[in-house]
Amino acid sequence: MLLYNTLTKKREEFVPITPGKVSIYVCGPTVYDFIHIGNARPMIVFDTLRRYLEHKGYEVNYVSNFTDVDDKIIKKSIEEGISSQEVSERYIKECRQDMEHMNVRPATVHPRATQEIDGMIEMIDTLIEKGYAYEKNGTVYFSTRKDKEYGKLSHKNLDDLRSGGRDLLVSGEDEKEDPLDFVLWKPKKEGEPFWRSPWSDGRPGWHIECSVMSRKYLGDTIDIHAGGEDLVFPHHENEIAQSECCNGVPFARYWLHNAFLNIDNHKMSKSLGNFFTVREIEQHYDLQVLRLFMLSAHYRSPLNFSDKLMESAKSSLERIRNAVDNLNFRIANAKNTSMNEDESAKAGELSGFTKQFDEAMDDDINTADALAVIFDLVRFANSEVKEDSSQAFARAVKDEILMLGEILGMKFERKEEVLDDQIEALIEERQAARKAKNFARADEIRGQLAQMGITLLDTREGVKWKRN
Ligand code: AMP
Ligand code: ZN
Repeated sequence: MLLYNTLTKKREEFVPITPGKVSIYVCGPTVYDFIHIGNARPMIVFDTLRRYLEHKGYEVNYVSNFTDVDDKIIKKSIEEGISSQEVSERYIKECRQDMEHMNVRPATVHPRATQEIDGMIEMIDTLIEKGYAYEKNGTVYFSTRKDKEYGKLSHKNLDDLRSGGRDLLVSGEDEKEDPLDFVLWKPKKEGEPFWRSPWSDGRPGWHIECSVMSRKYLGDTIDIHAGGEDLVFPHHENEIAQSECCNGVPFARYWLHNAFLNIDNHKMSKSLGNFFTVREIEQHYDLQVLRLFMLSAHYRSPLNFSDKLMESAKSSLERIRNAVDNLNFRIANAKNTSMNEDESAKAGELSGFTKQFDEAMDDDINTADALAVIFDLVRFANSEVKEDSSQAFARAVKDEILMLGEILGMKFERKEEVLDDQIEALIEERQAARKAKNFARADEIRGQLAQMGITLLDTREGVKWKRN
């Protein structure tokens, strides 16, 4: 399998450290709000990589963190008059729900930064001891000049960066010895959450979190480290610096970065305000449509979000689901159970689709081409499975479609029709839970309904619902 490695700027044959096993670390979201569909892109893309590696027979250890201590979380906690822990707990729960609805499997481990502080203090301590970090008035900085390899991931010209470096100085960080030095530990400000450390009561910098969590759950050297391309510099560059200077061995062998999800050709982001949350999209679409839309482009190509492309993804999904419906009808109504000779020969062609699919995925996760193979297979199904086809043949074709879909995290079989009565009963139970101030149960029911494809609308006339 070829993977494009940001570190070498080449497509390289993927060879894991331990045969048959793959370790992956994907930088996760900062949990201060609902995730937007830009954040969903790495989740969907790298979940697909994980599924594909498992399909190839690898055992995958997949770690993705939640950053649960951060300025934005603290700001939100002050605005809402609750603790930052309450803010992060809430949005971790919401994020997990979004992941589930996008069919993004939970990671093997989802470490949280606040639960790994001891490891961070230990790593910072080692970096100071080895001469790679220094302390000034309770703040600890990493000394980028001490690391001879600094800049190797982003391939940036450090002199240029340093000469424009005054801009890099953040207020309160003016004691840095070099504009490119970055914070490993910073003292608390009034009212902020803090932990005891040898340098000050304070909290870790963002980059050290991932170095520590990756090492703890996956080891000193891992196979794949991934995230969005905005993380290449400084986040991943800094992670490499910390980990390699501390551990003395390479940090990650393959660095994978997805391109941006854009809107009107600008990066979708919270700060620009040009975003849609996954939850908003779920009001209008089955999130399988969102997943198909994301996979319709190569992960290293920018993808522009538009209603037109979402509508096109919706009709593509519908086309595949209709084919599966037809196959189900044929399976239920076939006169013959087993295949005749002609059918056996035709069924032999199915492995050719798997082969083409694998070739596309082996080509740096080319999900767009992999989807094209599925559409070819749908055409095959529509033309080859007929009224007189046997049950076994129709089933073999259907299994092939579902199997390839599953590798992409796509569910091509329609959900069972949910009855109005069932929905009404759940809504009533939710109203009762709300009345009894059991908001946890009420939220749970809302989530359950969302998963059934039902959206609740709180209107002046009471709660209404609609199918997505
Ligand atoms: P953040 O919470 O901003 O650290 O982002 C979490 C993950 O989402 C990181 O891997 C980011 O690179 C990624 N990300 C954020 N915005 C976008 C976007 N518009 N397109 C693609 N990836 C994004
Ligand atoms: Zn990270």
